[in-house]
Amino acid sequence: MQSALESQPMSLEFQIEATKAAARAGRLITPHGEVETPVFMPVGTLASVKGVPQEVLEELDVQILLANTYHLYLRPGVEQIRRLGGLHRFMAWPRAILTDSGGFQVFSLNDLRKVSEEGVTFRSHLDGSSHFFSPESATQAQIGLGADIIMAFDECTEYPAESERVRQSMALTLRWAERSKKYFEQHKQEVPWNANHVGPDVPVWAGQRQLAGSAEIRSAGQVGTSFDSPRTGSAPTQTQSLFGIVQGGMDPALRNESAERTIEIGFSGYAIGGLSVGEPRALTQEIVAATVLHLPVDKPRYLMGVGTPEEIVEYADLGIDMMDCVLPTRAARHGLLFTSEGKISIKQARYAGDDGPLDPNCGCRVCRRYSRAYLRHLYASNEVLAQVLNTVHNLSFYLDTMRAVRHSIGLG
Ligand SMILES: [Zn+2]
Repeated sequence: MQSALESQPMSLEFQIEATKAAARAGRLITPHGEVETPVFMPVGTLASVKGVPQEVLEELDVQILLANTYHLYLRPGVEQIRRLGGLHRFMAWPRAILTDSGGFQVFSLNDLRKVSEEGVTFRSHLDGSSHFFSPESATQAQIGLGADIIMAFDECTEYPAESERVRQSMALTLRWAERSKKYFEQHKQEVPWNANHVGPDVPVWAGQRQLAGSAEIRSAGQVGTSFDSPRTGSAPTQTQSLFGIVQGGMDPALRNESAERTIEIGFSGYAIGGLSVGEPRALTQEIVAATVLHLPVDKPRYLMGVGTPEEIVEYADLGIDMMDCVLPTRAARHGLLFTSEGKISIKQARYAGDDGPLDPNCGCRVCRRYSRAYLRHLYASNEVLAQVLNTVHNLSFYLDTMRAVRHSIGLG
């Protein structure tokens, strides 16, 4: 017989397993599997990590991906994905997913947006059509997409900004956080993979489609075995988890106030937003260090949009648990590769005759098989494979970096 505790499934558990000064190594247990933290989350903007098939991401042991609500809302549309069973099933990815709220993406449209108390009117970068995001509609979109972790709708304050402007923007984000949470609590049962949710019919073949590598995933200790709620139906009432976002610009006092008031609203995890918006790196670090002190010890902390391999190590040392950045994937497509010996621009002529591996200390499938000369040739010839291989290596390097950090925290 199930105990009362078991019949009340947690949608997100966070266990801290080891600490070393401020750094923590832990485990985030989501409806679609476990995520070891600190974790670097590859960005799959349009439900795809550009150039890398999902089975390769699994081989790299990616445990959680990020997808962008703004882009998916425009194309193929939230309703389309929801009808196809949600993002996990749509992109054939049984492991955890996090979506952003669209706030940051809309923020980066600059001239194409208009902010009011109600929300943000913006123009599509695709066709110029007019759209509106509010805390309610952004949360609704994220419920429709069905990621495991979703974000409150926030305003990313620009840099630089006058202090009064930063205060007002932070206050707006707090009001939006409350509205996001209220909408989420009222509608969280509507996530496509919640067994209690009666949604539109999904084709039978889709329901029968199973992950090719499910046996390997089981043996790797993952909970996930199918595209639906993978705890084999034992937890039908699982829902998504909503994270709040701390804003407050580059003012530690406003960051403190934002953190305290966001925590009062109450979320499953807390993100630090509004950084990496053009400020000097030293200032980013100062604000992260100051903000992290005000976040609850027992909840996951997510630093949005950072950074270089050196930076993600520094932020993990400060006690950050989750990070995401387009840098490794975007840089890879431009031939910029991160290695244990520093950055390499593979387009340089000096690699044309270099028979050695890209990174002699990397065990990824690219470094095991291909030479710098070949990678340089692929890039110079504009071969699609160049983007694929470069991305696989850079992601592998980032994931290895995080694994080393976890190992080091584990050793105390
Ligand atoms: Zn490699």
